[in-house]
Amino acid sequence: MTGINENYLKLKAGYLFPEIGRRVRSYSDAHPNEKIIRLGIGDVTLPLAPTIVNAMVEAAKEMGQANGFHGYGPEQGYSFLIQKIIEHDYTKRGVKIDEDEVFVSDGSKCDCGNIQEIFSLDSKIAVVDPVYPVYVDTNVMAGRTGEVDASGRYANIVYMPATEANSFEPDFPKEKADIIYLCYPNNPTGMVASKERLAEWVAFAKKNGSIILFDSAYESFIQDPAIPKSIYEIPGAKEVAMEFRSFSKTAGFTGTRCAYLVIPKELKGKTSKGEEVSFNSLWSRRHTTKFNGVSYITQKGAEAVFSTQGQKEIGEQIAYYMENARLIREGLVKSGFTVFGGTNAPYIWLKTPNGLKSWDFFDHLLSKAQVVGTPGSGFGPAGEGYFRLSAFGKREDVISALDRIQKL
Ligand SMILES: *Cc1c(COP(=O)(O)O)cnc(C)c1O
Repeated sequence: MTGINENYLKLKAGYLFPEIGRRVRSYSDAHPNEKIIRLGIGDVTLPLAPTIVNAMVEAAKEMGQANGFHGYGPEQGYSFLIQKIIEHDYTKRGVKIDEDEVFVSDGSKCDCGNIQEIFSLDSKIAVVDPVYPVYVDTNVMAGRTGEVDASGRYANIVYMPATEANSFEPDFPKEKADIIYLCYPNNPTGMVASKERLAEWVAFAKKNGSIILFDSAYESFIQDPAIPKSIYEIPGAKEVAMEFRSFSKTAGFTGTRCAYLVIPKELKGKTSKGEEVSFNSLWSRRHTTKFNGVSYITQKGAEAVFSTQGQKEIGEQIAYYMENARLIREGLVKSGFTVFGGTNAPYIWLKTPNGLKSWDFFDHLLSKAQVVGTPGSGFGPAGEGYFRLSAFGKREDVISALDRIQKL
């Protein structure tokens, strides 16, 4: 028989969301007449903005014409989209990015998961705990870790706890870490990094020869103008950081699929003999070999996000979600909860009452208020005792969920 990649067997069984689904199903089977409100999801709910839809319809029509048909496009993405990305997301913020430093893809989940292929197998990763599970699991699959321990931590990963005790500002790794995953605004805690803190991270990476993988999937939810949207707003960051961006949460593309990865040419790694190699050229080789481009129709839709009308429409959607976030935050505080996040991010991270375990609070909220959230412990051991609520729901659901929580 053919051997398997045994690293997969190291993965913790029972991924978070299937377990949530199982518990919700079993509750609703037993209580078929109760309406369950889901505030656990990390998916958007508003429909695609009209300007985006129009651009996609036009692109589809174009594809049906002999002179408008598009077959394989450039693997890296069409220039019309990359130019808009650079102009809107970087040039306007004083950052210089070249066209060949941007790689359009069908999602940041794949990008954050695939990127580890271009690092040596013995490179050590550091993650914030709690964490978006993709960063960890893809390194487990690749064989960069040991087994998981009873607390849920893998050997050979550096964990940087982010809890109330350190104001969710993780300390720098004390051991050697070659690759540092950072996500700001953060999923799940909803916290952001100040310009000063990001500058310290960049300086740390430079001093220690580490690189930072900066996931800014939620940058468009930042309300405070002093908070950087891109790590490249920090001078020198291009030598130490890659940046992951996605249209998923920004413009409702979770089902449409479009994202991009920025790898500046000055970002270098080294061979075992000590020769420097640019990560941009490695990723370019990887992307053009294993990926055949995002559809023309989708890239046309993404381009429309940057039009004046597109910006107005997605701005309204973000405002809707952030108003949900405000309602959740304030409603929970009124009910006596200790809450974090939710002011520059669509997630509210609450401390479970009376020191309840995350899953116990999940069951409590489900059975007493029929509200579904996400147990913090599902994002890592340091998430134990916390709980995530998402602002991506419908307004009326948010309001009735808060009403039920208040009555608990
Ligand atoms: C939603 C999300 C993404 C975006 O994923 P896509 O594959 O682009 O939909 C990336 N990072 C984090 C932390 C997320 O929560």
